[in-house]
Amino acid sequence: MNQAPIHNNMSQLCSELICEKWITTNRVYETMLLVDRGDFAPTNPYQNFPQKIGYNVVISAPLLHAYCLQALEPYLTEGSTVLDVGFGSGYLTVAMSKMMKDKGTVIGVEHIKELYDFGQFNINKHHKDLIENEKIKLILGDGRLGYKNKAPYKCIHVGAASTQPPNELIEQLDFGGRLVIPLGIPNDQYIYFIDKDLNGKINYTKGLSVCYVPLTSAKEQLNNM
Ligand code: SAH
Repeated sequence: MNQAPIHNNMSQLCSELICEKWITTNRVYETMLLVDRGDFAPTNPYQNFPQKIGYNVVISAPLLHAYCLQALEPYLTEGSTVLDVGFGSGYLTVAMSKMMKDKGTVIGVEHIKELYDFGQFNINKHHKDLIENEKIKLILGDGRLGYKNKAPYKCIHVGAASTQPPNELIEQLDFGGRLVIPLGIPNDQYIYFIDKDLNGKINYTKGLSVCYVPLTSAKEQLNNM
């Protein structure tokens, strides 16, 4: 069996992601180089695997960060307001902001206080300016409800899997916007692209087969600890 290659920095990790076609555009490549996973993953940050961050959850694998950024690239435009549900480590929250050249607003929602603090701490290591300049706003709360105050959103990323269509989030999506979310149950779960056209019509496209932690209540998530 082939061993996973050992990487020591973002450049090496991104080279693997390009070879395996997870990264397909310069914009995503340049963004991932700007956001050092070493600030966000407590262990093996440059390996192409998820890593535990406590509270029964993980920072997603780099290939999934790349996959979601590729899917959201056309929507992460300068001046847009976007939502990151279940921000956990904070990696994708910063990456979404960087994709918009620090000229958009990312609202991040996380429901576990300790993870909220962890994500904020990680972001502050090298991207404190984004919080200070309100390019990133972090909210402690139930992400299934989105964040109405700043809706509608040009795009929404959800970092945890839902068993049902996220109606509240679809509601908060702008016309012409895209929601990326894992939907289904373990062993039958896929990333879906949920697009709202300019007339408000919703279209589902099935993407990659995945295995995410559940989008659930805080009580349920912490149950098995
Ligand atoms: N994109 C993050 C994913 C972290 S794992 C990263 O790569 O670091 C999924 C996250 O969703 C966890 O932090 C978990 O606490 C959070 N989560 C699960 N259900 C949630 C809910 N109802 N509201 C807000 N966050 C939730």
